[in-house]
Amino acid sequence: MTQTATTTTARGDDGRERFASLDPRTGEVVGHHPVTTEAEVREAVRVARGAAAFWADLGFDGRRARLDAWRKLLVKRLDEFQQLICAETGKSADDARVELALVIDHLHWAARHAPKVLGRRKVSPGMLMYNFAATLEYRPLGVVGVIGPWNYPAFTPMGSIAYALAAGNAVVFKPSEFTPGVGVFLAATLGEVVPEFPVLQVVTGFGDTGAALCRAGVDKLAFTGSTPTGKKVMAACASSLTPVLVECGGKDPLIVAEDADVRAAAEAAVWGGIFNSGQTCAGVERVYVADAVHDEFVALVAEKAGKLRPGGEPGADFGPITMPKQVEVIQKHVEDALERGGRAVVGGPESIRPPYVEPVVLVDVPEDSLAVTDETFGPTLVVNRVADADEAVRRANALPYGLGAAVFSRGRGEELAARLRCGMVSVNSVLAYASVPGLPFGGVGDSGFGRIHGEDGLREFTYAHAVARKRFSALLDPMTYDRGSRTVKHVLRLVRVLHGR
Ligand code: NDP
Repeated sequence: MTQTATTTTARGDDGRERFASLDPRTGEVVGHHPVTTEAEVREAVRVARGAAAFWADLGFDGRRARLDAWRKLLVKRLDEFQQLICAETGKSADDARVELALVIDHLHWAARHAPKVLGRRKVSPGMLMYNFAATLEYRPLGVVGVIGPWNYPAFTPMGSIAYALAAGNAVVFKPSEFTPGVGVFLAATLGEVVPEFPVLQVVTGFGDTGAALCRAGVDKLAFTGSTPTGKKVMAACASSLTPVLVECGGKDPLIVAEDADVRAAAEAAVWGGIFNSGQTCAGVERVYVADAVHDEFVALVAEKAGKLRPGGEPGADFGPITMPKQVEVIQKHVEDALERGGRAVVGGPESIRPPYVEPVVLVDVPEDSLAVTDETFGPTLVVNRVADADEAVRRANALPYGLGAAVFSRGRGEELAARLRCGMVSVNSVLAYASVPGLPFGGVGDSGFGRIHGEDGLREFTYAHAVARKRFSALLDPMTYDRGSRTVKHVLRLVRVLHGR
């Protein structure tokens, strides 16, 4: 899914190869960044070791103070940060503002909850080990490598970076070649409040730089991007037994049940499918609508989507397609759907005018079409009729992807949600789980594994450290050669009493 942001690289005064990030709205250069070599990536990881020791020694309170200061600095420089995100991705100012609001809220949650979730706590030793005190804590892994995509260049990697830092790790971050400046901004601002050591470093470059990070001896690699690249990352990390967190793509369904608030469902489907130009891993791509409300739903979606316009000017509803090559994928999906008997109720092939794609709403699309089976990543929606919500659940679960989903139903929302094979579900809303910092974010199947956000997201960047301390000698101690057969007999009797009935 990746192509280089620019085909040309040039050597800077320092002799390092550099590449440009471009504004997809205008083609103008936003900034130049080094193509970090394998040796430089290894050096960054070596330096991060020292930073990790310093950062871990600060303890939860010390880290929280620094992360809170970073959060306040990001709020202070929010306009500047938002403009940089808009320049590198082309997204609308409001889409960038929403992204940053979530970044800041998650950073706060991670720093605040790390002590309670990860700090040492007592664990019941159980009846058989009554003479022991048991404790558990979650310790930082050391250095975490983070590889991120371009579609949410701050929110997505920060799901790993903020949680890994709050857990006490140093981070080396490889941003997408389309959004290197966003990564540099994050590292520079954290550097202002943590001047002692570079606890967050950025290594800019192309896919090779990401591959080098996988081989650089990090203690964990957190990858967010497409499923094919996720497989490559996992293979590269396997040779050194480096654990991986893999957050990949999706083809998220929205189910509209017979008893849904149809107006609210239509509004959510249009926003969930089209905001950020449809370039959202957990955006709405497939909609399954119960027969009883299908026609009303399609009419409302067509009315709403038909009014939206992409553009680069302030006030445009959404921006361009950030990655030029993705336009071909969107075009192929739309054409394939129409050739196979689908109908466009909004837009069509003529809606594709690079770098912009106007909204396209397709209905009656065969379930084996590309627009139903593969990630489109554009401002398109497939709306298919089903007999009822039960058929919708079957179709929703039919793909190997399993990232997020949404259900609209007045009475059966939670029941239908429970039957969906995916990591996250919104009921009577879309994408709501991503804005609740306490909820874990991630998928199953081809959408990857591991979790960012929430308690799981903090633990993801730690290892469990368990201690069992003997407080006094037990009357019956089976864990010694002095135990005698009577002791074992008594222990077994106890086991029969405790567990045999
Ligand atoms: P890619 O998989 O193309 O790239 C992701 C990152 O991996 C980029 O930084 C890329 O660098 C890097 N990379 C490329 N090749 C390698 C390699 N061989 N080894 C290591 N790293 C490599 O994804 P996109 O950037 O195009 O992002 C869009 C995808 O991300 C979509 O599929 C979307 O669904 C998914 N996504 C998933 C999310 C989730 O939480 N589940 C959230 C957001 C997006 P470079 O760009 O320089 O090539």
